[in-house]
Amino acid sequence: MPVREYDAIVVGASFGGLAVARQLHGNVLLLDRNEVGAVQTSACGTPLWVPQALGVADSVLQVHDRLTVRTPRRTVIYDLSAVPFCTFDYKVFCQGLLAQCDARFLRTSVQSVEAGVVVTGEGRFRAPVLIDCSGWRGAMVHGGERNRPSGRAYSFGLETRVDLHDDGLHFLLDRELIQRGLGWIFPVGRGSLIGLGSYVGVSKLKPALERFLAAHGAAATTYHGTYFPNRLLRATVGPIFAVGDAAGQCLPLTAEGIRPAIYFGAECGKLVQKVLDGALDLDEALARYRSVVEGYRWAYRVLGTAQWVAAHAPTRWFAALAGLATRHPFLPRWWPRYGRFGGLDPIPVSTPT
Ligand SMILES: Cc1cc2nc3c(=O)[nH]c(=O)nc-3n(C[C@H](O)[C@H](O)[C@H](O)COP(=O)(O)OP(=O)(O)OC[C@H]3O[C@@H](n4cnc5c(N)ncnc54)[C@H](O)[C@@H]3O)c2cc1C
Repeated sequence: MPVREYDAIVVGASFGGLAVARQLHGNVLLLDRNEVGAVQTSACGTPLWVPQALGVADSVLQVHDRLTVRTPRRTVIYDLSAVPFCTFDYKVFCQGLLAQCDARFLRTSVQSVEAGVVVTGEGRFRAPVLIDCSGWRGAMVHGGERNRPSGRAYSFGLETRVDLHDDGLHFLLDRELIQRGLGWIFPVGRGSLIGLGSYVGVSKLKPALERFLAAHGAAATTYHGTYFPNRLLRATVGPIFAVGDAAGQCLPLTAEGIRPAIYFGAECGKLVQKVLDGALDLDEALARYRSVVEGYRWAYRVLGTAQWVAAHAPTRWFAALAGLATRHPFLPRWWPRYGRFGGLDPIPVSTPT
């Protein structure tokens, strides 16, 4: 079968891949093994400005001005009104971004990369620029399941949608519920997503989640869940760019991975477009992208330390720190800074042709 040629190939059409692709013009191929927006793995909580800046505000299901963190002995409430959060509809969000892309979308699974050729179920494709946005598995950069990095770099989350109405986001840190992890309730308009996450990658969470649901008088519908990284991995591997979970860009502690995937995806896409325009050579673009990501390593370290405290220290320590963080003058200093991380271009860069 002949190898089909493109200017760039983006693997994965979720948050990272769509953020890259919407920056690109030219002969670009966007690959995903699923239809865009069809398989949700996330609670889809992010600052409200994210869907607004991306032009997909119609995906917003509920806006949240409050975050409640509960431990067995203490409840701490954060006022998020300086940077409100929202929960959004994954399919509407992703399809809205896809409509802003020039790229050709093809549904197929990437099997491997051999000497620069991307091997898929629908044939073989080659491009001078390859971008891996395929999530924690890193179909191109990790070379498949067998070669992925150490299990300790991954958390695991499992959640289900329930008929529970509430306002505000909730996190629960309770060792009786989950040993080294946390629970959450994210209202999504009509109902809520209730989930559990293990910071040490324990994936058998269904019995604990069922106890959590029973405590709230809620019944599970369908479950979804997967691994997500909790530390920065490599931003480039040889000539391949990695974005989002494929590069370990999900934030430790909060497990916020949408914003970093979109932010670093946009930065990567802008550099790749310069390569396609002949304004930058590939090695320089790879180096500049690594440097953008490296600029945030300190922030990942801080959050990684906070995650260690949440997972390993007595819960009363975490509760004390969480309580301190709500106080004046701390909250007005760190919350807007954290909440506005990843500021995006307000206007879509690419428009459909
Ligand atoms: C239960 C749970 C809840 C979460 N809640 C939140 C939250 O509320 N807020 C938040 O910010 N983050 C949350 N996260 C983390 C967030 O979902 C991820 O960090 C984010 O999805 C990463 O985006 P991505 O584009 O890098 O990868 P993904 O969203 O995982 O997308 C990868 C894409 O690549 C495709 N793909 C994979 N392998 C191949 C292949 N071989 N060939 C072709 N295509 C392939 C997949 O089909 C998928 O579309 C949550 C995670 C979990 C598990």
